[in-house]
Amino acid sequence: MSTPGSAKGASGTKNNEGGKGKMGGKKELKRTSKFTEVQEALGKDGAAIFVDKKGTQNLYIDYPYHVNYIHSYAQDSPFFLGLAEGRLRGTRCEGCKYTYATPRTYCQFCGEEAKWVDLPLVGKVHSWTTCHYGSEAFLKETPYNLVIVEFEGANSVLLSRLKGCTEQDIYVGMPLVAKFAAEPKYLITDVWFEPAPGAVKR
Ligand SMILES: [Zn+2]
Repeated sequence: MSTPGSAKGASGTKNNEGGKGKMGGKKELKRTSKFTEVQEALGKDGAAIFVDKKGTQNLYIDYPYHVNYIHSYAQDSPFFLGLAEGRLRGTRCEGCKYTYATPRTYCQFCGEEAKWVDLPLVGKVHSWTTCHYGSEAFLKETPYNLVIVEFEGANSVLLSRLKGCTEQDIYVGMPLVAKFAAEPKYLITDVWFEPAPGAVKR
């Protein structure tokens, strides 16, 4: 049972304090026309002033922002639940029999419903790229290899990570095996590929 007024918007107040708690009230703020110095000062003091070409003093603050996004996989759910069980699931069109290596519950060619099928846990490199930059979640892992995987019996391909080899080891047609996270997070990163035994030629 909640006490009336117990919330008082307290969480809001707390959030608004934001930053890293480093923003000392009376501390002299860093004042600079170099933005890299502003960034540095934000990390240290939580605030800084950027003086632009016109002499305007722009106050910058370090303001962590977090969004908890409740996402539903809806009809794609069996794909992600499959990854947690060490299964790769594609779909096959009931009408034209086109087989997708990705979760697609209606056929893009004939519009018929597609049913879940298990894909082989081995495939081949169709194409690949090496990423020297990535989104925040992957930045620490750069450079890393992305691969487009072909499967026996599937008409389309799957984009995934290729681990366990260097960029120089990769070639079109390279045999691959699927690997699954021991502790699934129900994300596409729960699966990745590695070279099949003997696939690295050097
Ligand atoms: Zn179809």
